[in-house]
Amino acid sequence: MYNSAIQRYLLRQSQITLTPRVALIDMDGTLYDSMPSHARAWQQMMREVGVEVPIDDFFMFEGRTGASTINILFNRAFNRDATPDECKLLYRRKTELFAEMPPVKPMPGAREFLEFMQQAGIRRVLVTGSGQRTLIDRLERDFPGAFSPDLMITSRDVTHGKPDPEPYLAAMRMAGAQPNECIVVENAPLGVESGSRAGAFTIGVTTGPIPAEALEEAGADIVFPSMPYFADSLPMLIYGMITTMNNYN
Ligand code: MG
Repeated sequence: MYNSAIQRYLLRQSQITLTPRVALIDMDGTLYDSMPSHARAWQQMMREVGVEVPIDDFFMFEGRTGASTINILFNRAFNRDATPDECKLLYRRKTELFAEMPPVKPMPGAREFLEFMQQAGIRRVLVTGSGQRTLIDRLERDFPGAFSPDLMITSRDVTHGKPDPEPYLAAMRMAGAQPNECIVVENAPLGVESGSRAGAFTIGVTTGPIPAEALEEAGADIVFPSMPYFADSLPMLIYGMITTMNNYN
């Protein structure tokens, strides 16, 4: 059922097989329904420095490091990059505002997805553009046993955040896995681009205002309309991967 998506991946990435051993998993908007709160915190922080930014813009920036987002907004409003001090100060303020928002909930379907991965013996690595501890520190409570603290890539571990492939390449190195042994799970176009450029089979899941087409254009090998739908479809998708060979090689 998913053979055409798998064949397309093999051709596009010049691979012969796809053997899922490791899942590289985004956090915000994928495991947690946190994007509306992040967007509101960003918008409020920018309002405090006198800049009005449409809320949907923050969904498009999702995946970038804090400094990268601040620089885009500064260039738009002031025609210059923010200084390192400004970045630090403003990101700290945004983090404060986010922490004041009502607690975010795990995304429906995220637990089921992680449980299946555990049962299937597929290792999990968290790959987030966030450097905020608020959610990272909750992972063990919300998803017991799903992640080990030494298998995580956060904004602190990379020079270039998403959409650069660096975060996903670093996660592959950390897990000792080749690109064709990895699946990436992402909800945002920049994250999808990062995973696809790193050479993994990249799954896009729409969980917010970003349409499926934007995830496809960013390089998603397949797009699911929600996390529960994705979690339900996962056994068939993994089965398809281990039974499909590239007929063209
Ligand atoms: Mg995300």
